[in-house]
Amino acid sequence: MPEVVVVGGGLEGCAAAWALTQRGVTDVVIVERATVGSGGTGKSSGVVRCHYGVSSLAAMATRALDVLENAEDVLGVDVGFHRTGYVVGVGEQNVDALHASMADQRAVGVRTEDIDVSEVAKLWPVADLEPFAAFAWEERGGYGDAYQTAQAFSGAARRAGATLRQGTTVTEILAEADRVRGVRLADGTEIAADHVVLAAGPWSVPLLAAHGIDLPITVHREQIVLVDPGQDLGAVPVFSDLVSLQYVRPEPGGEILFGNSDLSRLEPADPDRYSNRASEHAVDVAVAKVGARFPGLEHAAVASTYAGCYDVTPDFNPAISATPLRGLVVAAGFSGHGFKISPSVGRLVADLVVDGESSDPDVPASDFRLSRFAEGDLLTSPHPYVGAGQMR
Ligand SMILES: Cc1cc2nc3c(=O)[nH]c(=O)nc-3n(C[C@H](O)[C@H](O)[C@H](O)COP(=O)(O)OP(=O)(O)OC[C@H]3O[C@@H](n4cnc5c(N)ncnc54)[C@H](O)[C@@H]3O)c2cc1C
Repeated sequence: MPEVVVVGGGLEGCAAAWALTQRGVTDVVIVERATVGSGGTGKSSGVVRCHYGVSSLAAMATRALDVLENAEDVLGVDVGFHRTGYVVGVGEQNVDALHASMADQRAVGVRTEDIDVSEVAKLWPVADLEPFAAFAWEERGGYGDAYQTAQAFSGAARRAGATLRQGTTVTEILAEADRVRGVRLADGTEIAADHVVLAAGPWSVPLLAAHGIDLPITVHREQIVLVDPGQDLGAVPVFSDLVSLQYVRPEPGGEILFGNSDLSRLEPADPDRYSNRASEHAVDVAVAKVGARFPGLEHAAVASTYAGCYDVTPDFNPAISATPLRGLVVAAGFSGHGFKISPSVGRLVADLVVDGESSDPDVPASDFRLSRFAEGDLLTSPHPYVGAGQMR
């Protein structure tokens, strides 16, 4: 009988399995209904930054860099991390919030600094920077490949003793009284275990609901547009534009990946049936936003589009938490920002399974407790950005 069953072979489930093996718990089974990384993970933009207003998330992001930057040593393979640097720019109304947030980030170890407009102009020469009043720079920022990273976690966990069962669907979490005792699979067989980690993204919801546990996740489609810049941009950093609400990052092949960070209007979706192409409207928005911010891209053209789904909670932050069922830990609801923190998510899950508490004082487990939604005590930034409220 394995010690731990992990339900879901996405980034977070694989990170949890790997982190458990690091804590000496090697008798772990990852159960994945399709293949590793086939859920939201395979669609991730992979932006890596520590710019969070919520301190525990900034701490998780900066700790995670130690793994992403040194993946060949830590996980045994390259995970496609590119350290390009990260720039975030805000308008006049958000200057105070930017600086307050940066101070909190530094307090948990983030390397972030003020950068002036002339320096940003050197980094992104084709950009119109006039509407910005202040910028922050993270030299350790960049982007990674979430699919490769999930595979790397899974591979490292397996080399340490974990087992991966792909093409295997969990239909039920088994419990006796208030204690978990394993999972039932679609073929009717059971895997008995004293601990279950539920990391099945939006598909976690019905598995918990069967036990009367509410995980408030709604699913939304997020559309990505790849732009051919029509010129060689050189080594540009990831740019988060909190004035017109967009993020752009380079692709290894020279294209620009555009994401719309205006999350004030969300498009509800079914994660099992959604269009994988951006709508005409979304492409129009991308063309308008990229065109306005980067007027120097005179010969730019849309190269391709695709879409993925965010599993969104009421505060746009995940539940990484014990549950009313003893032995059951949930890690879901990453709301579109679970890549950059994934190594730290794994660590927190492993801590919860082994010790029942976080081993990192900067990452209190209480921040991510599932019960905060029912309590109405949401996890939000103390320095919210006006007009960009979903930037956590
Ligand atoms: C378009 C897009 C852009 C993003 N950009 C960024 C970004 O720039 N930076 C960032 O930090 N994050 C980003 N994210 C978020 C990040 O990619 C996700 O938070 C993360 O990949 C979620 O991983 P997960 O393991 O929780 O979920 P998933 O990858 O969805 O994994 C869940 C797994 O569970 C499996 N499963 C479901 N039901 C069952 C069952 N009953 N039995 C067994 N297995 C089951 C599924 O097949 C799936 O593989 C983005 C996400 C999207 C969609």
